[in-house]
Amino acid sequence: MDKRYYGQFGGQFVAESLMNTLNELEDAFEEAMADPSFIEEYNYYLTEYVGRPSPLYLARRMSEKYGVKIYLKREDLNHTGAHKINNVIGQILLARRMGKKNVIAETGAGQHGVATATGAALFDMPCKVFMGSEDIERQSPNVLRMRLLGTEVVSVDSGSNTLKDATNEAIRWWAKTAEDTFYIIGSAVGPYPYPKMVKEFQRVIGKESRDRHLELEGRLPDKVIACVGGGSNSIGMFADFLEDEDVELIGVEAAGKGIDTGEHASAMALGAPGILHGMKSYLLQDDEGNIQLAHSISAGLDYPGVGPEHAYLRDTKRVRYEAIRDDEAMDAFMEICRLEGIIPAIESAHALAQIPKEAKGMTKDQSILVCLSGRGDKDIDTVTGYLEGKGYKN
Ligand SMILES: *Cc1c(COP(=O)(O)O)cnc(C)c1O
Repeated sequence: MDKRYYGQFGGQFVAESLMNTLNELEDAFEEAMADPSFIEEYNYYLTEYVGRPSPLYLARRMSEKYGVKIYLKREDLNHTGAHKINNVIGQILLARRMGKKNVIAETGAGQHGVATATGAALFDMPCKVFMGSEDIERQSPNVLRMRLLGTEVVSVDSGSNTLKDATNEAIRWWAKTAEDTFYIIGSAVGPYPYPKMVKEFQRVIGKESRDRHLELEGRLPDKVIACVGGGSNSIGMFADFLEDEDVELIGVEAAGKGIDTGEHASAMALGAPGILHGMKSYLLQDDEGNIQLAHSISAGLDYPGVGPEHAYLRDTKRVRYEAIRDDEAMDAFMEICRLEGIIPAIESAHALAQIPKEAKGMTKDQSILVCLSGRGDKDIDTVTGYLEGKGYKN
């Protein structure tokens, strides 16, 4: 089997001029992962800079409400407030090891842009982040953060002026500058070896969760839930559970206004195999194969595709994929604020919204492990707008 593929998905659909670069990258990555000094350096920054290991918190009041133990993996407590930094630290250390001078990244909501800008400042590397002009307008606090951290935000005016277009532009720039430039991709997407690299750099989420759950409960969780945008926090959470056949794995996509409305981001539910951003995977597209705009109240889930390993895990049925609407996610968002004193990212609230559906028929000796991928400070304006629209008063 071609190691670049997950079943029929994945691959390297890039211009001929980038094939060499991808081969070099793969060699450097495999070498680094086999080098104890690289692993030690990566672990050092995860511990001392990111603040790992993150807690596995038994959400007491939610557990009582749903009649099953609910454990939350607190990726929201990482430096910069989400799981994305785990991957950035790994890739930027690899960039240094390869002797690259510059880093670039794409960003939609700006979360991966901020994580990359953070890593670039930490290691004193010039950084450009490509961002759609529409997103620059919508996500101004993150644009400011990137600039404060010393990163150049490059406005992309093409197509829908959003993430998909920013990613195309980043790949184009990379093809011209790959000699001295490393492209830090923000999710488990893109041409091989990116989906694998991102999985390995996010594996720490599931590994810590699994170890800690065993320590606390003497057994594995019954179900594991994570939200799926491109699929990095979820593949990191699932990685160490894939062989545990008794553990049910559930990925949650954004159903936006409902998957029958056309305004959603459920590439697994309604997408078809196609090619985008250097990979073959499930994508939202029309009958002619044009990529469609995704919609979700959560900017981080607003991507028209999904990582190729998820596409494979869907077809092989090792992971079950569900979709949660904006309104369901917002209800879960409000609930965890009030029950646990935790303001989650709206992305993470999609995973939380799946809990009541999964808890049915489970007992209080069983447990559900949920990846709380990030904190919600970044979403306060969205939440305010949503609640005002609902006529909510406090
Ligand atoms: C970016 C983001 C996501 C979605 O990205 P994945 O690659 O699917 O993990 C989920 N949660 C948070 C908090 C994010 O910032």
